[in-house]
Amino acid sequence: MAEPLSTDATATLSALLAGPDPVSSALRAQIPYARVTGRCGCGCATVDLTVDRAAVPPAPEHGNPAADAWYAVPDDAGVMVFTEDGYISLLEIYSASSEPITAWPKPRFLMR
Ligand SMILES: [Zn+2]
Repeated sequence: MAEPLSTDATATLSALLAGPDPVSSALRAQIPYARVTGRCGCGCATVDLTVDRAAVPPAPEHGNPAADAWYAVPDDAGVMVFTEDGYISLLEIYSASSEPITAWPKPRFLMR
């Protein structure tokens, strides 16, 4: 399975990786080469991502998650970007409530 990133997921990644630092810049450059290669079993919007490593270089060394934020709306949700070997590998949304969040909230509600 490999499908393009949805518009909403792309916007979320771009917002989370905004910034002039080398890690954010390198990870942002990978977004066009990322494909969805897996989904979370609970039904939430979380996606496993695989980047075409021949197309773009890895990001310089950084911690994991590479980026994370809470949402103002819904106010019990957060999102994290994880990497593997310097490449985006997971965009995970999580919620403090028991209901999975099935669609990406608007990036303007991100609190970074
Ligand atoms: Zn899930």
